[in-house]
Amino acid sequence: MRKELVIKMKIFNTLTRKKEEFVPIEEKKVSMYVCGPTVYNYIHIGNARPMITFDTVRRYFEYKGYDVNYVSNFTDVDDKIIKKALEEGVSASEISERYIKCVEEDMESLNIKPATKNPKATEEIDGMIDMINTLIEKGHAYEKNGTVYFKTRSFKEYGKLSKKNIDDLEAGHREIKVAGEEDKEDPLDFVLWKPKKEGEPAWKSPWGEGRPGWHIECSVMSKKYLGDEIDIHAGGEDLIFPHHENEIAQSEAANGKTFSRYWMHNGFLNINNEKMSKSKGNFFTVRDIGAKYPYEVLRFFMLSGAHYRMPLNFSEDLMEAAKNSLERIKVAVERLDDIVKKENQTAVSEDEQKVLDELSKLNEKFDAAMEDDFNTADAISAIFEMVKAVNVGISEQASEESAKKAMERIVTLMDIIGVSVVPKTEILAEEIEALIEERQAARKEKNFQRADEIRDILLEKGIVLKDTREGVKWTKA
Ligand code: AMP
Ligand code: ZN
Repeated sequence: MRKELVIKMKIFNTLTRKKEEFVPIEEKKVSMYVCGPTVYNYIHIGNARPMITFDTVRRYFEYKGYDVNYVSNFTDVDDKIIKKALEEGVSASEISERYIKCVEEDMESLNIKPATKNPKATEEIDGMIDMINTLIEKGHAYEKNGTVYFKTRSFKEYGKLSKKNIDDLEAGHREIKVAGEEDKEDPLDFVLWKPKKEGEPAWKSPWGEGRPGWHIECSVMSKKYLGDEIDIHAGGEDLIFPHHENEIAQSEAANGKTFSRYWMHNGFLNINNEKMSKSKGNFFTVRDIGAKYPYEVLRFFMLSGAHYRMPLNFSEDLMEAAKNSLERIKVAVERLDDIVKKENQTAVSEDEQKVLDELSKLNEKFDAAMEDDFNTADAISAIFEMVKAVNVGISEQASEESAKKAMERIVTLMDIIGVSVVPKTEILAEEIEALIEERQAARKEKNFQRADEIRDILLEKGIVLKDTREGVKWTKA
């Protein structure tokens, strides 16, 4: 008997440089670690790319019935944070706490689902000391004058992710001396723990007061919240070397297990074809863009503009195009919603059924694009084909059932993209009623300022209030 054709999820694995079938460690479960931002400033829209990309990956897994354990850290101890703290004359923790709050607000604006856990490096120091101790015991690390180094050559597979040859690296490193790291046995060795400098945050350790290196943080937080071996480790492609290469060396040397089965990396968000970065100063913060466009347009632009591994050039023209495309989907869904509200109880006609069958096929097309290494741009094209099909095939007089089914399908798929297209008044009905009640109470108390405020809040959401003899009525503007 012929086996049924089942689409298999494929992920491009940086480790093998191949698209591979995704096989989770545990059936229907995914453990994912996404390297998070260093918190010393507002995040720029380049930093938002991995957040949006991997949140969408997570949403797709969840839609497919996987239980996703999603961990993403905040790097809240770092040279840049300390520098900013010195500039402002405040503590490093004041800086990191301030910007963690800002990043959390930005993530909410971008509709990034809350992670299962957002560990902070400064709260995981004990685990880092433990792992460094293990590495020393196993002969993979050594201490010199309060600094602990990882012995890079002791990890035989070093370079397997970035495909770098260790001897080439050695040649490149010979001339470079990093201040404070003169005691290294080998220029390739990297820091696991560094001693305290005056005015810097520090923790007690067996090697004196100090703080961890950046790479060890992620190895430890991933181990603590997801285990020694995980399904997916992800981040921007600039993290492949040295960050992820070093994470692999540390984790695999300490735990004796494969660290992550799949490594996913997003391409850069560019501006004028150059990587957007804080150091170059060619960046827009998420908030800069949020002041000009709804946040959902930024999210939609990122996912429709290019495959996540490809570079994506940011421009106002492309944002305008994304805004218009998104509007097209919203208008189609609003029209379906209006048809649903007519409550036409007739049976689904033959023509309507044809449209629904077409949508089912297009849903398969959406899934196939997502299963092919999360090709969101192609998946969104399938949604546009759905929009075309319903605009043509579901008439104003259509049955409630067919309009509802069509609408639900588009809304569900757009939820995977992370953009809600449910017509606004639909979500707000209860909220509107509550605000009207509050406004009535304010009026009774002669608090006309609050009453007017509420009227304005509703107006902003496109809701017009009318005082009638039967009470307050509301309509869509
Ligand atoms: P950082 O705060 O620099 O450690 O970056 C946080 C995350 O944003 C990492 O996954 C980076 O790879 C990613 N990232 C930084 N700049 C860009 C960019 N221009 N395009 C895409 N991803 C970026
Ligand atoms: Zn990391």
